[in-house]
Order: sequence, then C-alpha cells, then structure tokens
Amino acid sequence: MMTLSEIKQSHRLTYQYFSECQHGERWLQRIVELDQYWEQIGKRSTTQVVFSSDALPKNVRINGHFDLIYAGSTLGTIHAAAMAAIYKKSVLLFDKHTPAKTHRDWNISKQELLALAQIGLLTEKEIESAITKKYQTGFVEFASTEPPTRLYLEHVLDCAIDSDTILRHCLEKMEGEKNLVLGKTTFNRCFQCDDGIVVEVTSDDGRLEYYKAKVMMDAMGILSPIALELNNGKPQTHICPTVGTVASGLLDVDYDIGEILVSTEPEEYTATGARQLIWEGFPASNTEMITYLFFYDRIDSNNDKSLLNLFETYFQKLPTYKRPGADFKLHKPVFGIIPAYHHNGMGKTRETAADRILLLGDAATLSSPLTFCGFGSMVRNLARTTKQLNTLLDEGRCTKSDLERVSAYEENVAIMSNLMKFMCFEKDSDPPNFVNDLMNVIMKVLKDLPPRYGVSLFRDEMALSDFNTLILTVAKKYPKIFEITFRKLGVSGSLSWIQNWLGWLTAPKEK
Ligand SMILES: Cc1cc2nc3c(=O)[nH]c(=O)nc-3n(C[C@H](O)[C@H](O)[C@H](O)COP(=O)(O)OP(=O)(O)OC[C@H]3O[C@@H](n4cnc5c(N)ncnc54)[C@H](O)[C@@H]3O)c2cc1C
Repeated sequence: MMTLSEIKQSHRLTYQYFSECQHGERWLQRIVELDQYWEQIGKRSTTQVVFSSDALPKNVRINGHFDLIYAGSTLGTIHAAAMAAIYKKSVLLFDKHTPAKTHRDWNISKQELLALAQIGLLTEKEIESAITKKYQTGFVEFASTEPPTRLYLEHVLDCAIDSDTILRHCLEKMEGEKNLVLGKTTFNRCFQCDDGIVVEVTSDDGRLEYYKAKVMMDAMGILSPIALELNNGKPQTHICPTVGTVASGLLDVDYDIGEILVSTEPEEYTATGARQLIWEGFPASNTEMITYLFFYDRIDSNNDKSLLNLFETYFQKLPTYKRPGADFKLHKPVFGIIPAYHHNGMGKTRETAADRILLLGDAATLSSPLTFCGFGSMVRNLARTTKQLNTLLDEGRCTKSDLERVSAYEENVAIMSNLMKFMCFEKDSDPPNFVNDLMNVIMKVLKDLPPRYGVSLFRDEMALSDFNTLILTVAKKYPKIFEITFRKLGVSGSLSWIQNWLGWLTAPKEK
C-alpha cells in the first residue's frame, strides 16, 4: 500500500494537504485503490467471479440465509433499507470498508430528495437532518473570449447533503434480527444455484465465509468485478475522473450560490492528450465549500486519468478558481471515477443482470452520463425498482430476463451520452476552445428558452418535446452544429444518436 511519504516528491501539494487533513493516509489508500480501475479496464480476459453451482466447494457451511444480499454499501445501503423497511425482506449488506461511509458528498434538490419520504423510507425530519446547506441559486458558466454567458438555475442540486447522515438513517431502518450488516467483508465470487445464490466473502479476519440469498445485489460501484465480467471487460464507455475537497477558508466564495458547472480556461494539453477541465463549487455549510475538478473522457483515450495525479492538478489550479486564504483547511477529500455508458441501440444495451444477480448504482452505470447524478438516479428510481424487485422475489422469478427489467435505465437520461461526447475534448479533431465555445452557445439558447429547459436538463428530467425543441433551437442558431456533430460522432455515432432518439420516442410511458 502506498503511504503519504512515498508521494512527497511526486505529488508535493497533495502530500502537503493530505498530511494536514484527518485520515489523510487512509484517503490516499482509497484513491490508490480506485486508480486500480485503469489497470483492469478493457482487458480481453476478466477474472471470473460468477460461477454455476457445480463450482461451489463441497461441504461449505452457509453462515446465513437472506432474501437479498447486497455487496457494497453506498447506494446499496439505500436500496437495502427500502427492501428491508418497506417490503420486510431479510437483507445482508456488506462492504469491504466501513458500511455506509463514503468519500463523496451529494447535491440534490429538496423536491427530489423528498421521494425518500414519499415511499416511507425516511421521515422528513431525517431528510432535513442530512441537508447541511441550501443555496439560493446556482449557475453554469464556461470560459469565453467574449463575456461568458452565465445561466442561472433554480432548484437544481441546491441542497448539500451529508451523505454519511443519509446512509446512517438508512442503516437504522435495517436494525432487526432478520438483517445483518458486515464491514471489512470483501466479495470474492458467487455461485448461481436453482434455489438461490451463494456468495463467498473474505471476512475481517481473513476467513472465507458463505451466505445464501434469493438474489445478490451488486452495488460495488466502479470496481465491481461482476460488472466487468458481464460486460466483457468494458463496463463503461466514458468516465469522469473527479477530485475535490470539502474545505473552509476559501476566498471569493458566496455561500448562497452554487456553481454547477464552471470552466475558467481552455482545454489543457498534457504529455499524452488533452482535456477540458471543469469545476463545480457548492457551499457545504456557511463556512465550508465543496469544490470539484473533473473532466469528461472516453474510456479508451490516451489521457492520464489517474485520480492521484488529478488531485495534484486540483491543488495547483485551485487558486485560479477559488483562492485558499491564510486559514484554508481541508476537512475531507472527495473523489471518484464517475462512470457513463453509451447505449448503442434503441434501449438499454448494457448488461445489468444475470441469473439471481442484479446490478445497481455505479455498478449498473445507468445514471446520467452528462450530469453524473448517481445518487439522484437512485432516489428517482427507488420506488419503482424496489417495488418491481419485491414482486419478482414474491413470485420466485429471479432469472436474468426477469431481473434485467428492474433497472434505473431512463431513455431521457441515456440519450444524454450523445451530448456528453461533445464535452470530451478530442485533441486531433477539435478546434481550440471547442467545449467552451459550444457550451456558451448552448447556455445562450437555454437562457432564451423558458427556465424549465435548463432545470430539467440538469435534473435529468427532460421531456422528449423539450429535448427536441432544445436541439432544434441549437441547430437553428448555430448551423455549424451539423458539421461538428458529424465530425465528432461520425456516421455510426450519428446513427446511434438517432436510435437513442427512436428508443425514447417509442418507450412505454409507464415502466
Ligand atoms: C466526487 C463525487 C461527487 C458526486 N456528487 C454527486 C451529487 O452531487 N449528486 C449525485 O446524485 N451523485 C453524485 N455523485 C455520484 C454518486 O456519488 C455515485 O453515483 C454513487 O456514490 C455510486 O454509489 P455506488 O454505491 O454505486 O458505488 P460506490 O459509491 O463506489 O460504492 C461502492 C461500495 O462498494 C464497496 N466495494 C467495492 N468492491 C467491493 C468488494 N469486492 N467487496 C465488498 N465491497 C466492495 C466499496 O467499498 C464501496 O463502499 C458524485 C460522485 C463523486 C465521485
């Protein structure tokens, strides 16, 4: 395991700030762990972790039987709590780290968050207790040689959530004899049987243990070995490496305004590629600010995507976005590889289930490839996915074709992967300042349209008619977009966009 002292020379600023922050060493380990993703992705052969019952070692002792086993306890915690508390299913939830503790902080609107109360999972009081700050308004702004177009958006990502508080409340809903929560427990492999699935884990003390359930829920995030196996080594088509901090002592901050997407400079050329760096800044309280730096990218680009290296860039560039004052203090780093998938067809083309296995959250990679709101996607789809899963469990229907219908796939969200491709700067074909210039055009168009267009776009709630109007208005005001689209997406990419569109057009209204 890498230690902080080992990065003292190579990542000077990261070393300095992490050394001053609580649990800096532990955060570094998590970053290094996530960076392993780049080594495992795109390989022809993947490690097999899903086996049939024939491969189950003889005479294993089953430690416990459950309706559902959840591997991974970030979004897994929310789903598991709903299945346990609302549908009274018995649940085992385990995580290789501490359950219900995460290295992200979420933003969402109150209206969206209330879905957790509407389905009877959390009380409004519990929800309120997780909101650390509400800001008055937020904006999107991209760098420009002319005065940039600032688009203000109301009720978009305007509540900062302490993710651990939401998860703790969910964990409390699972208290009871029927359920079990295990930390420091690592998924190894699973065995599909006729009457259930056996999951092999390594426990805290290094022992192999076996648990059985009707269905296993894979909520292991971007590192899910099951997603890797089911999708032949390519579980994502695009990603968004993201790093940032929750910090106090930043200057130039208005604690009542959220900065939803902001760029301050043209694309950055590096030794291997080029990328358009984008900032986000959300007040986390009246004294603390969350700032993120990220870029959109193809999974197979030459860009350096290491989170550790991006952290060094973040600390180098932070003063160009928000200046750290004399009392700057890093309270917690936040980071992740946010996954995206382009569905090349009229519907969901990614594998998100197998017999007795269902993927959710980042393991399923069905949240918006443009806004990356994985928590938002979970909240928005929780009522539907838990109800459908409950019905399947009660009816004993747990095959791949049964389970894959239970998903957070939304046609209006999936189509955004076509727009996301415009956010990935391509060194060989894009003119300088391409992303910024295009985004300024789109912000101008959104500014001229009624506010609901911008709001629904950034909340992943866009209606088909509004999407059509948006695209047609951009095309009218900026005819060059046809040439750009063709250059960026090519024939197959353009056709794929049309397929996504047709899929949305023909999708059933009620799922
Ligand atoms: C910096 C950042 C900010 C974000 N902000 C927002 C936001 O404002 N709003 C929003 O809606 N979304 C946001 N997102 C997206 C959101 O955080 C993710 O979509 C969400 O956390 C995904 O949760 P998950 O449970 O699927 O995966 P993860 O959060 O990655 O959790 C996976 C869990 O599985 C465990 N695990 C992995 N492998 C194993 C194994 N072999 N055995 C046992 N356990 C294992 C891990 O320890 C981890 O706890 C943000 C993401 C990042 C990175």
